Order: sequence, then structure tokens, then C-alpha cells
Amino acid sequence: MMNHHWSFNLIRDMKNSSNHIIRTEKAVVISDKYPKAKHHFLVLPWKNIDTIYELTENDIELLEEMRILGLNAIEKTSFRKEDFKMGFHHDPSMRHLHLHVISNDFISDSLKKFKHWNIFNTDIFVPIESVIQELRQKGRIDVPAGEKIQRLMEAPLKCNKCDSQFNWLPDLKKHLLRHI
Ligand code: AMP
Ligand code: ZN
Repeated sequence: MMNHHWSFNLIRDMKNSSNHIIRTEKAVVISDKYPKAKHHFLVLPWKNIDTIYELTENDIELLEEMRILGLNAIEKTSFRKEDFKMGFHHDPSMRHLHLHVISNDFISDSLKKFKHWNIFNTDIFVPIESVIQELRQKGRIDVPAGEKIQRLMEAPLKCNKCDSQFNWLPDLKKHLLRHI
């Protein structure tokens, strides 16, 4: 049965080949529909994996391939790989595992909500290298405490390029323009 809740939309849209930027047997790269920076891609495995908490050591090879697909997507832009971050969100809102490949300017009209900053710029964002390393060491990724995520989500907005800190997203957004 199809599920029509919005949280299933990635599962629907990843199957539509007109959305495919790069595709292999194991995974596909699409554009994030509401990009939170100048460049924002998602890499999704074809394998039915919902979250990072389901991953095991056996998925490391798949994650390596997803990382390479992310790098291939970056090569299609005029930006350097150092201008990007690649990782997963704890407590994601959308169903099906998706790797964020996002340029670190965070200049975007879709960056509208306070939490949009902190989900990419606090420990809510888990770099893919950390996921791979944790799987090698422990064989799994632990679900963090809900209170911890809540605390990080509500934390003051710290600039990712300097020591400035803000309480209001519009102030941070204005500040970010100084870094481009
Ligand atoms: P998260 O679940 O927090 O890791 O983030 C989900 C991401 O999916 C967000 O960056 C959304 O902008 C993006 N998104 C939501 N719906 C779609 C869609 N239909 N196609 C592509 N990206 C989407
Ligand atoms: Zn700054």
C-alpha cells in the first residue's frame, strides 16, 4: 500500500528517473527540493533502509559508494569539495536513508526556520566519515536521547565560519552574506 504522508515523498520521488542526477546499481543522487544552500544534493540507497540506526558493518561498502556519489555530484558544481559537508541528520523528518551533500554557504531562501541551521551545524548532523567509523568500531549507530536533540535544536545560532552567535535567524542570514 502506498503511504501518502509527506514524510514518504523521498521514496516516491527517488523512483522518478527525471529526478536522477547520478545513478548506480546501489544508489541515486537527486537535488534537495528545498535546498538549504547554493548546492544541496541527497544520495539515497535503493536498498530499503530507513535510518542510520538500522545500519550495520555490512553497509560500510554501500556508504563508501554513497560518499563517492556525493563527491561526483560536487564535481558537477563549480565548488570545491572543501566547500561542502556530507552527512546524515539524527532524528530525520523524511523516511528512507538520505545522505545530505550541502555547500557550507547556507545561502538559500528555503533556509527559513531556526532549526534549519542547527540540524546542519550542530551534532545533530553526523558526518558520513563518523558514521562509517562508528560502524567499524561498534557495528551500529545509537539513537541519541530526545532531550539532547531538543537542546541542540534550540541552541543559539553559531556561525560556521567565525565566532559570531545569533538568537534570530534573519540576523545570522544577513551575517552569512559577509562570508561569501
Ligand atoms: P531530514 O529528514 O531532516 O534529513 O531532511 C530531509 C530533506 O529532504 C530536507 O532537506 C528537505 O528539503 C528534503 N526534501 C523534502 N521533500 C523532498 C522531495 N520530495 N524531494 C527532494 N528533497 C526533499
Ligand atoms: Zn561568521
